[in-house]
Amino acid sequence: MILLDGTKVSLERAEALKEKVVALGFVPKLVIFQVGNRADSTSYIKRKKDYGAKLGFDVELKNFPEDISQEELEKEVDNANKDDSVHGIIVQLPLPDHLDSNKIINHISENKDADGLTSASIYKLVNNEKGTVPATARGILTMLNAYDVEVTGKKVVVVGRSLLVGKSTALNLINNDATVTVAHRKTENLQAITKQADILIVAIGQPQMITKDYIGEGQVVVDVGISPLDETIKGDVHFDNVKDIVGAISPVPGGVGPMTVVSLFENVMDLIESNNG
Ligand code: NDP
Repeated sequence: MILLDGTKVSLERAEALKEKVVALGFVPKLVIFQVGNRADSTSYIKRKKDYGAKLGFDVELKNFPEDISQEELEKEVDNANKDDSVHGIIVQLPLPDHLDSNKIINHISENKDADGLTSASIYKLVNNEKGTVPATARGILTMLNAYDVEVTGKKVVVVGRSLLVGKSTALNLINNDATVTVAHRKTENLQAITKQADILIVAIGQPQMITKDYIGEGQVVVDVGISPLDETIKGDVHFDNVKDIVGAISPVPGGVGPMTVVSLFENVMDLIESNNG
């Protein structure tokens, strides 16, 4: 069994990225908008800030009170769009219920859209045009490429259909010539479908649900799930239960998580390069 070591691959990518930052001759800046102070969001943001600092990025957190209005937040995003010292913008989700997340995300200029979640970026992903790919989808493909896992012509099953992860990963793989099936809660005979995959990608947020009943012999398994359980974090795949039958598997932690973070900063670097080119 091959361990798809996202920590190792992300460190290699980070080294290359650091060199690009030095070559820029200025400090690239990512701005993160946070509304309120949800503990999980705060910890994801801290991880991005620490990681970005190691790469030489300035990561600025703009934190707003829980009751900020739609208009005020949109104005703040517009200001960041106009600020030439800002190269990438992300809005940490979820936002409080009174705010329209889609509208706020669509206020981000496409040329600063580090998460690839604006309608313009999603259109390009759907249409297989060059644009920002959401970080997790990008990170998964980068990891598979790093281990020479061929996706062209392969049967890929993605379990989970959120825009953030499942759908964007499926689209990115279709664009890379995989044959993709997307499964979800309403999917019938899920086990029969997942077993047939050459590559199984699971992004459901159900800790350890995927046991060997869902797995085909020699399969490549990518576990995207992150759920706190028993004072640690668990993936969607029951690693110990499947490790003897899979061909390769990404662990949690240390798989897709670090790939997502490095991919976010690769997205910002690509935005800088395409805006200058
Ligand atoms: P969402 O809750 O938005 O989506 C979950 C998806 O999984 C839905 O499409 C849902 O189906 C499907 N699903 C849930 N339960 C089942 C089930 N029993 N059988 C089949 N399908 C199911 O979550 P996200 O996509 O945002 O995230 C998924 C997981 O990935 C989470 O654990 C999250 O923490 C993690 N994550 C990890 C990242 C990383 O860097 N490693 C980055 C982002 C997220 P339906 O649509 O029918 O409800």
